[in-house]
Amino acid sequence: MTTPSAVSAVPAYAAPAPKAPLERTVIERRQVGEFDVLIDIKFAGICHSDIHQAREGWGEAIFPMVPGHEIAGVVSEVGSGVTKYQVGDRVGVGCLVDSCRECENCKAGQEQYCLNGSFGPTYNAIGRDGTPNYGGYSQKIVVDENYVVRIPDGLSLDVAAPLLCAGITLYSPLKRWNAGPGKKVAILGLGGLGHMGVKIAHALGAEVTVLSQSLRKKDDGLKLGADHYYATSDPKTFEELRGTFDLIVSTVSAPLDFNAYLTLLKTEGALVNVGAPEEPISLNLFSVIGGGKTLAGSMIGGIGETQEMLDFCAGHGFGAEIEMIRGDQINEAYERVLASDVRYRFVIDTATI
Ligand code: NAP
Ligand code: ZN
Repeated sequence: MTTPSAVSAVPAYAAPAPKAPLERTVIERRQVGEFDVLIDIKFAGICHSDIHQAREGWGEAIFPMVPGHEIAGVVSEVGSGVTKYQVGDRVGVGCLVDSCRECENCKAGQEQYCLNGSFGPTYNAIGRDGTPNYGGYSQKIVVDENYVVRIPDGLSLDVAAPLLCAGITLYSPLKRWNAGPGKKVAILGLGGLGHMGVKIAHALGAEVTVLSQSLRKKDDGLKLGADHYYATSDPKTFEELRGTFDLIVSTVSAPLDFNAYLTLLKTEGALVNVGAPEEPISLNLFSVIGGGKTLAGSMIGGIGETQEMLDFCAGHGFGAEIEMIRGDQINEAYERVLASDVRYRFVIDTATI
């Protein structure tokens, strides 16, 4: 049933059931509330997390599912209480559209670690109002202004979209673990997240190494800002790079032998994992005891930090490297992501939905 003032008949792409191909549909968005903005979505990135969830790789999910948490667009309507945005503003929305706003993490600007919320994710969640959250593979979205960020003038909306997840997911741990001048940083996996990791770590002044399965993308990696590039399929890589890195950030979407990668750290170095494989890994704890090493995790970043990241990328003059696709190419793009055949983020032109 259509509620009178809801935003109805919004074209979208949805997975109707787990593992089913995505298909074109229409959805409804809630009416624009006092503190909401209505955004005309122009571009939406495809994150590997969309695929994990649409295929129920992380466990039971909510269907139909409209994935997409790398959203860039233009504000087309604002609620009466909105103070931060006006019609015409260029804005973005990432992985969060809400959080409790009261717990210590929300108050500290770490909304991604909200202690009370299962309603905050942009999709595959039930919102505060009891209706499913639908993501960015659609032409419009209604979001509370506190979960919207501003896209700086210098950044085109298409290359800005992937920053909303891939950008912040790498920026946050690189900052927290002090990537910068004098630090040797390795980025493991050169996909959507990994290529942003290379750009950001390089812009922060670190000496950057890409650890990829093969040397297939070496030229690209060096152009993106890497100083060195190694194939992890070559056992010599592990001998040569033993004890080299202050920080390794793993963006790999499949289970890996972290024991081997931990040997590449210096004494007291850190391996921060952001990849979210569907199966557990096996860890020999002697891999961290010897050398006093840290194995840590990190999830996206807070709303304030996401704004900081966008300003940082715009200030350094870069967005993501993208391949633009139409709505009817989403399923094919999923297969290419799964085959590590992405250079380096698929972005949907939502006008084609
Ligand atoms: P992606 O574009 O598919 O990149 C993943 C890269 O991992 C691939 O390009 C490939 O790099 C490498 N890889 C894939 N399979 C591998 C295997 N079997 N062995 C070794 N390396 C392999 O995916 P993404 O969008 O960057 O996302 C990466 C992971 O991060 C996903 O699991 C996603 O769900 C997760 N994620 C986490 C967060 C967070 O907040 N922590 C946020 C977003 C996404 P090479 O070709 O260079 O080897
Ligand atoms: Zn993502």
